[in-house]
Parts: sequence; C-alpha cells; structure tokens
Amino acid sequence: MERVDYCGSLRRMKETIGDVDFLVAVKESRKPARNASLRLRSDAGRVMDSFVAMPSVVKIWGKGTTKSSVRTREGFDMDIRVVPKNSYGAALQYFTGSKEHNIATRRVAMGKGLKLSASVTEEDVYKALGMQWVAPEIREDRGEVEAALADKLPKIIGYHDIKGDLHTHSDWDGGMNSITEMAKAALEMGYDYIGIADHTKFLRIEHGLNEKQLERRNKEIDKINLKFQKQKSKFRVLKGCEANILNDGSIDIKDEALKKLDYVIAGIHSNFKMPKDKMTDRLIRAMENPHVDIISHPTGRILKKRDEYQIDFDKVLRAARETGTVLEVNAWPERLDLNDQNIKKAKEAQVKIVVNTDAHHKSQLKMMELGIAQVRRGWAEKKDVINCHPLQKMLMFLK
Ligand SMILES: [Zn+2]
Ligand SMILES: [Zn+2]
Repeated sequence: MERVDYCGSLRRMKETIGDVDFLVAVKESRKPARNASLRLRSDAGRVMDSFVAMPSVVKIWGKGTTKSSVRTREGFDMDIRVVPKNSYGAALQYFTGSKEHNIATRRVAMGKGLKLSASVTEEDVYKALGMQWVAPEIREDRGEVEAALADKLPKIIGYHDIKGDLHTHSDWDGGMNSITEMAKAALEMGYDYIGIADHTKFLRIEHGLNEKQLERRNKEIDKINLKFQKQKSKFRVLKGCEANILNDGSIDIKDEALKKLDYVIAGIHSNFKMPKDKMTDRLIRAMENPHVDIISHPTGRILKKRDEYQIDFDKVLRAARETGTVLEVNAWPERLDLNDQNIKKAKEAQVKIVVNTDAHHKSQLKMMELGIAQVRRGWAEKKDVINCHPLQKMLMFLK
C-alpha cells in the first residue's frame, strides 16, 4: 500500500457526512501490462482482506477485487477503493467531489481536450487544467473554479493559524474545569491567550453569574495572570462573559459590570421563535450596545434538531459592520454556525469573524479544528478572523 486518503464529504469537511470513502494507491509493476494488472489485483486483494477483517466491521455489504463496502459498529458505512499509483491523483480528485465541482472541472478539461486519468497527484490534475490547486473545503462550484483558473484563489486560513479561543466556560458557570485548567489546556494547544466567557445570570440552568460573582471571578483571573507574568510567560487569560440577549435586545447584565471585562460575547439562549423582523431588531439592538463585542452562534441552529432563527442576515451584517461587532463561528459539532455561505457573505461585507469552540470541558478546545474547517469552507482568510492575530492586535478588533 503506497498511500491512503479519505475522500468525499469527509475530506471536504462538510457539516454532516453520509458514508466514509477511502482511496488506496498500490505500487505499479515494472513488468508488462498483463502482469501489472495481476499485481494490482493481488495487492488490492490484501487491502480488501484487511479492510473487511477490521474488528469494528459488523456487516460486509460487498467485497470485490478493488472495491469493498462495510458497516461499522458505530453505524457508519465505509467504502474502500484501490487504484494504481499512476492514476491516484485523478481518482482522489474525482472521489473527493463535490459533484458540482467535478462537473465544472470536467468542463474545463473538455474545453482543453484533456484526459486526466494519468495524474499521479491531485496537484498534477489542477496543473494540467491550468488551475491553482483547490482546497477540498471549497470544492462546491461556488466560484472556486473560475478563481483558480484566474490564479485568484484566496489564501484561506490554515489549521494552525489560531492564536486563542475566546468562547470557553469555566467551573464558575456550568463548565467542568477550573480557569487554571482551561488556561493550561490552551497553552498545550499552543495558544497565546484564552478568553473565559462564563454564562451570565439569566441562564439559571447553566449557573449564570450575576454582577457580584463576575467581579469575584475577575479577581481570580487577575491572580492567574499574575502567576503567568511571574513565570515570564506571555500567555494571558482574558475576562469575558457570554451574556444573554433578552427579548427586547437588552443584555441581562448591567453595563458597569460589562465595562470591567476585556470583552463581551452576547448570544440568544431563549425565545428562538420570534418573527423575523423582531428577531432581527433584537440582534441589532444587542450589537448597538457599546460593550458587546461578539455575537455567539449568530443564527442559533442545532444541526438536525433546531432550525436557524428567522433573521434578515443582510441587515444583521450591515449592523455588525456599522457597530464593529464580530460574528462568531461556533465550532461545536452540532452548531457550526455561521454556516459556510454566511461566512462568505460576512467576509464580503468586511465583517470580522471569530472562531470559538464554546468548550465546557478542556478537552473540547480540540473542537477548534471543526470551526477552522467551517471558516475555510466560507473562504475566510487570516485577516478576516480576529483570533488569528496575536493578543494586542486581536484586542484592536474589539470595541
Ligand atoms: Zn451560547
Ligand atoms: Zn457558550
């Protein structure tokens, strides 16, 4: 086995996926063609045997010479395909999709009278087409083919570009870990800062903090930062909160308390079914609060459970731009909100984005990868995402 990749919607990092597709390259033989196909078959046969014999396989849908299909204990259907190394690039590009992207690239190939089946790497495929290589996350035929042909693809953010997480919860509210534990986990992620955005008082079930409790929590953060300073560490814990946007767009915590924080996130956690104009006004009024820096999970959907709230997103974007409010992309797997198309719209409207995990446990800081994938799918570049910046520069994007 020379190389293996997962492809399809998983490689494109879609919000939800169906089955999982694997592609495997096996060595070409130096012997004549007839033997080469025999060699492929025997190498492929070994891959097929091991694939269907994996301990997590509970059902074998089919086992062929170069393709097999199984169901795992977790309920996933998985397919595997073996191709010769010399056509691996073309196969990887084809099986990654999307269908729409493939139709568009095939049109380019036909226009140039090209056949791409002999490409060893995916880069070869795009090069032959006279295009830049396109990141799998944006292969949706939403302008990427034209941009790649014109050498104008944006340099979308990378999986290691994030410098800190601004939406995390500690054990001061419903979170599972202390602020120190969250900070240490953030340091291990290689971050320069972490923002603690505990819930505020309206959210009783999440042990939301009132003004006095926030004050006490701030003092603890000061102490922790002092320790970092003494250790000559530049790492900082930021004082934030995730306040609640009430029905009329007001915030559930007094301005005097908000003023003492490094930043304020505000989000809607109640009354999700307001009519569109009222819900839009509610969000806009919150953004007009001079202390509110970030709107968390701005459209409120929970994948496969709760639809987005009804809002006029263009109006919300205009207000975000005018008030300098940052919109969040929440990395929580069921949220991933904003979605890709709204991220692209925000970028085009020059509204800044922040990618946060909403971690309630230190291990959940790792969900950042999903959030990054989502902003990549929305074509966001480093300059569009405030937490790609070091601390001082990031703070400049807050009110
Ligand atoms: Zn929230
Ligand atoms: Zn939260």
